[in-house]
Amino acid sequence: MQNSNTIATEISSAKSSRTEPTAFLNTKNLNTTTVGSEKDLHRKFLLLGRERNKITYKLLALLPEIHKQKIYEKHGYATIYEYAGKLAGLSHSTVEKALKLEKKLKDKPLLQKAIETQGIHKVAIVANLVTPETEQMFVEKIENMSKPALQQLSKELRGKIQTSWQIEMDEEMMKTFLKLKEKIGRNLSNKEAMRRMLNMMVKNEKPQPQAKKQRKIPGDFSSVPKAKPKITRYIPVAQKRFILSRTNGGCSHENCHNPAQIFHHQTRFFQTKNHESVIPLCKIHHEFAHNGLTEKQTEADLLYHKYRQTSMI
Ligand SMILES: [Zn+2]
Ligand SMILES: [Zn+2]
Repeated sequence: MQNSNTIATEISSAKSSRTEPTAFLNTKNLNTTTVGSEKDLHRKFLLLGRERNKITYKLLALLPEIHKQKIYEKHGYATIYEYAGKLAGLSHSTVEKALKLEKKLKDKPLLQKAIETQGIHKVAIVANLVTPETEQMFVEKIENMSKPALQQLSKELRGKIQTSWQIEMDEEMMKTFLKLKEKIGRNLSNKEAMRRMLNMMVKNEKPQPQAKKQRKIPGDFSSVPKAKPKITRYIPVAQKRFILSRTNGGCSHENCHNPAQIFHHQTRFFQTKNHESVIPLCKIHHEFAHNGLTEKQTEADLLYHKYRQTSMI
């Protein structure tokens, strides 16, 4: 199991030292041949790689139409593979994947368009799952989620993991349920009534360990203000240990067997100024949480997505 000290909080990962302001994206800086520091070399490589990917994605988006109209033949190339390889350095397997994918995207114009900016790999992961109703939502996920997280999402959506249950009740349980439902709201659906009952029970529970009893000191101290410990956004090590102990060090997402990698605030820290809603998650399910899949998306998530798209990560 990982040591709790080595697990980054979401805050420190969001403020990763590798993230840089967008000013550096000026490609003029890239043309210099002077050998810079290790960091500069890495930055240049990263940015040029990005530029190259952008161009590759645009080339891939053009391929289906070139294939359809057999434009390669008119220019003396026997196959589309030869054409794409010689003119743009695209590999046989990439071209094949792009053309196969095109067949799946016939009635999905938004996904077709997404190839231009996101390439074919992420689009291919979700191509079979998308319907006209969900197309827009999937495009957003492709733009904001990593490849491993999209793969996991596709797996979960393909029904490999049970997400809804039916519970059988006997007569006595039913009576109790209806009695409680009467108090909560008789016009609610059974499902909604049950949801509210469960939420109420969760709220009544105290997940935090009781604070140590303080030793009594004789004398009247009622007028002395108590010094409150300062709560910062960094979770104390003892609390991290306690949080991890609830899941045996694992990710708290149902049926996930990955080790916990991130302490995630279900209710954002700036709103609560406490760590009561923190759960341990693996990196993939942390992406789920911030992409509106397991939690409602917040304004902060949307801002972060924008920031990620324009900065170096
Ligand atoms: Zn988080
Ligand atoms: Zn997980």
